[in-house]
Amino acid sequence: MTEHAAPRPGPPALLVIDDDPASCEVLSAIARRAGFEPRMATDASRLEAMLAPEVKAVVLDLQMPGVDGIEVLRRLVALGCSARVILVSGVDAPILRSAFQLGEEGGLDMAGRLQKPVRAAELLALLRDPRPGKAGAGARDAPPRESAERVRHAIESGEMTVFLQPQADLRTGSIAGAEALVRWRHPERGLLLPGHFIATVEDAALGLALTEAVVEAALRAWDACARDGLDLPEVSVNLPPEALTDTAFPDRVEAALARHGLPPHRFVFELTETSIARDTVAALDILTRLRLKGTRLAVDDFGVGYSSLELLRRLPFTELKIDRQFVAELPTSASAAAIVRNSIALARDLGLRVLAEGVESEAAWWRLSDLGCDLAQGYLVGRPMPPSGMAAWLSSWRPPAR
Ligand code: C2E
Ligand code: CA
Ligand code: CA
Repeated sequence: MTEHAAPRPGPPALLVIDDDPASCEVLSAIARRAGFEPRMATDASRLEAMLAPEVKAVVLDLQMPGVDGIEVLRRLVALGCSARVILVSGVDAPILRSAFQLGEEGGLDMAGRLQKPVRAAELLALLRDPRPGKAGAGARDAPPRESAERVRHAIESGEMTVFLQPQADLRTGSIAGAEALVRWRHPERGLLLPGHFIATVEDAALGLALTEAVVEAALRAWDACARDGLDLPEVSVNLPPEALTDTAFPDRVEAALARHGLPPHRFVFELTETSIARDTVAALDILTRLRLKGTRLAVDDFGVGYSSLELLRRLPFTELKIDRQFVAELPTSASAAAIVRNSIALARDLGLRVLAEGVESEAAWWRLSDLGCDLAQGYLVGRPMPPSGMAAWLSSWRPPAR
């Protein structure tokens, strides 16, 4: 294996994995023109070591002897790789397309696919694309909006599934739980992120139906982890305001938890302050009954929206999730740091457990740890992944070490 690693800190790095040294050189030259420091590997035997935090892009040849590209994709998923991934190959387009989809389904940031020989302009365009991380080709292609009827059908026919995103204990580094995030397995369009259909769900008043489907999918995901030998301590699910209208909802949740044998105190509903502010009377009834049945309640995206401290006092919350926008700026912005510090202090004083979202760097992890935050969720810990990937993720998870 050839590899040329440069000392840190430096420009963002790009990892080329290609068994052909000549092809490696060509791809590296293009990467350099796009402002990346190229690193080359002619096989993937040391993938874990090579996937350093400064590696922001991976260009992967699908056809390699030994460990092939598909196997590498699977390992990138297991390692929680957050770099954007570009596939190159001489194989024909359908194979390239399904490999691409495989990466997307695994939660990788799939940025594009190119046929060999690679044209410099095409690769440069993919590398220079300034779009924010995540959401591969689908997000750029301005997808057609699905009708309310189609979304309803998807909910009723079981096309809605969940990915799990792990949450880690900032003191011990151990896994504390996972958030279940909805994904639509669309038969024609592939895996769709919530951004593609949540607006339709809201407009068509399908929030309750979706939530019930997601609760069921989250419980199945918890079962699947248990079958793989992973006793996931907790599962959380997003609770949109539309689901706070049916007073029988808490009873159905209780029945679903009992069916799967998950103790209610290990199940968390996440709701945003904005959604609670809309209809406090009905919400208060339902949320209080959910709490009485033993499930926990988290304030999601804390710090954005209508931050009514009064609501925090009136509603029976048990945890607080600090919005990722503050966490992202934590290492560099004094005001973001002040908000995070005070959110943690507030949570402490109110007796709430506190989780930081969007933890992407070790710097953020240590700041949060020093500030006394309880839990971390974000790409540093792991990307949202299919439940079947959780056990493999856990076996490769190493919390940051000072
Ligand atoms: P959210 O509840 O705040 O979920 C976290 C979102 O942040 C997820 O996006 C996740 O992939 C992303 N994320 C996680 N870690 C990081 C990180 O380190 N950096 C960055 N930049 N992003 C990170 P996703 O899955 O696309 O979900 C987006 C939103 O869609 C969610 O935001 C939530 O509001 C909504 N949503 C997701 N699942 C459901 C659901 O089952 N029901 C409802 N009603 N809404 C859902
Ligand atoms: Ca959430
Ligand atoms: Ca959130």
